[in-house]
Amino acid sequence: MSASRSYLDWNATAPLLPAAREACCRALDTLGNPSSIHAEGRAARAIVEDARAAVAALVGGEAENVVFTSGATEAANALITQGLAGCCGRDLPRGLPVLVGATEHAAVLAAAGEAERLPVDANGLIRQDILEQRLKAIGPALVAIQLANNETGVVQDIASLARLVHAHGGAIVVDAVQGPGRIALDIAALGADALMLSAHKFGGPKGVGAIVFADSRTRLASAAILGGGQERGQRGGTENVPGIAGMGAAARAVKAEFDAHTLNQLRDGFENRLKALAPDVRIAGEGVARLPNTTLFAIPGITAEKALIAFDLAGVAVSSGSACSSGKVKASHVLEAMGAADGVKAGAIRLSLGRTTVAHEIDQALDVIERLVARRVARNSASDDTFAASAA
Ligand code: PLP
Repeated sequence: MSASRSYLDWNATAPLLPAAREACCRALDTLGNPSSIHAEGRAARAIVEDARAAVAALVGGEAENVVFTSGATEAANALITQGLAGCCGRDLPRGLPVLVGATEHAAVLAAAGEAERLPVDANGLIRQDILEQRLKAIGPALVAIQLANNETGVVQDIASLARLVHAHGGAIVVDAVQGPGRIALDIAALGADALMLSAHKFGGPKGVGAIVFADSRTRLASAAILGGGQERGQRGGTENVPGIAGMGAAARAVKAEFDAHTLNQLRDGFENRLKALAPDVRIAGEGVARLPNTTLFAIPGITAEKALIAFDLAGVAVSSGSACSSGKVKASHVLEAMGAADGVKAGAIRLSLGRTTVAHEIDQALDVIERLVARRVARNSASDDTFAASAA
């Protein structure tokens, strides 16, 4: 990061790790096709298999259960539209009803189409009572629930959700994209049947990701991409060797250097100072388990649009908790599902920190907030303050 800019948007994408860049570059210069049996092919294959072992180790899984994809969006599409076979040692019926969390990423929501959305409470946690009711009514289902939300950082109790889904004969696939580099991951402890991962969220290159199955009997009910039978026949196409190499190197690095404590201290320090500057600030999911690096907040009377411009002009990269497309800011479906007040939806700003975040970057963000709050006080505009009681 240049000295003048602070990058506080790691949940959007994390900076490329030096080890990942080196691995990508080395792989770019590796000639062979991993499917070729000659020495050049075997060299490329070795790179892919080494990365597979590293990605498996990142989540406590087995290398043979990793399927590389073009990212988590492809992983979600494959898992949800194709479904699972051989899951939990038995064949699940095809065409199971699909249930997805209401606060899932667009990758999962879009793949699930018209499938039923599971409501969340005011903190963003899945309503387990409602999941149980639905499973009792419909029987085995394919359930997709994220480990942690990219906007709020709220962490779901996957182990307990998985027990519920399995007790009703179904399967659970988990978008674990925001986990690596933020919290430790263990696929067996989570009880998930499959995880979705994305390299660029933890220091790997963009455009590569993986599905990790919990056991070697589980696979996609049909191939994500038909082709030459690569990836145990589940995802055809010559492997993205440089991308996969970068993902493997990033997986190894974040597993080795993982430091949630520092992230947590920085984030909590930020939130404490934020509350001192604006005691009326609302922080989404504050009362429940969250990723140590994420904070989504709204200050009454300060809209996300205004704030984002102020942050960017001051050299601080953050996101709003709203989707921004073609220049229009749209309220976040996550905050909507949490029942947040209109003012919270209109004002939500996300800071997400990472391995190289330093106190100075937090100071820079707080300076911007201090100026925004001062302007708000000067304006003293009651009409701009659209806050009602917040559900966040
Ligand atoms: N799931 C979550 C929680 C995400 O944050 C993202 C990225 O924005 C995705 C899925 C999609 O990942 P990818 O960029 O690899 O398609």
